[in-house]
Amino acid sequence: MTNIANDRSCGDCTACCDGWLKAEINGKKIHPGIGCEHADRGCGIYETRPVSPCRNFKCQWLLDPNMPEWMKPSRSKVILKGKQIWERPSSDVPAIVASSVGPKIPGKSKNWLLSYAEETGEVILCIEPVRDRKTYTGEQRKYAIGRADFVEEINQCVEEGREILVRSV
Ligand code: SF4
Ligand code: SF4
Repeated sequence: MTNIANDRSCGDCTACCDGWLKAEINGKKIHPGIGCEHADRGCGIYETRPVSPCRNFKCQWLLDPNMPEWMKPSRSKVILKGKQIWERPSSDVPAIVASSVGPKIPGKSKNWLLSYAEETGEVILCIEPVRDRKTYTGEQRKYAIGRADFVEEINQCVEEGREILVRSV
C-alpha cells in the first residue's frame, strides 16, 4: 500500500488534472492548455473518478515527508513523479521527473530541486511545455538537474534531437 506522508491530501490542488501531465481521462486526452473537464478546485466527480490514472496517481509531494509543504504542486508549480526510468541504449538511469505547472518551473522551485539533487545524489529530468505566444505547441523542453554525467547526456540528447523516453518503475 502506498503511504501518504504527514496525512497530506490533494485538497484543492488539481495540478495533475490540469493537463500538465499528459493523460487520458474517461477517453478524453488532457495536455498543456487542455485540462480535465471535471477539475474545479478539486475533482468534480471525486467518488466516481477513474482508477487509472486518477486514483492510482500520487505525486512525490504526497509521498515524501522530506518535501516541504510549500512544494505542494499548486504552490511550487512543479509536479514531481518518483523514480522513473530514463531509457537510453547503453543503460537505464532511475530519475525523478519534474513537470512544470505552467510554461516554466519557477526559480524558487528550481533552486529547491538543485539543492535536493546535491544533497541526495538524485538525478532529475525537468520537463516544461513549449508555449508560442499563448498557445502550447505540444513540444516539450527537457533538461537535467543533478550529477554531471546525467546532465551532460541529457544535454547531448537535446542537442542531437534524440528522444528522451521515460517510464515508471
Ligand atoms: S499534483 Fe499531487 S497534490 Fe496535486 S492533485 Fe495531483 S496528486 Fe494531488
Ligand atoms: S476525473 Fe477528477 S481526479 Fe481525474 S483528472 Fe479529472 S479532476 Fe482530476
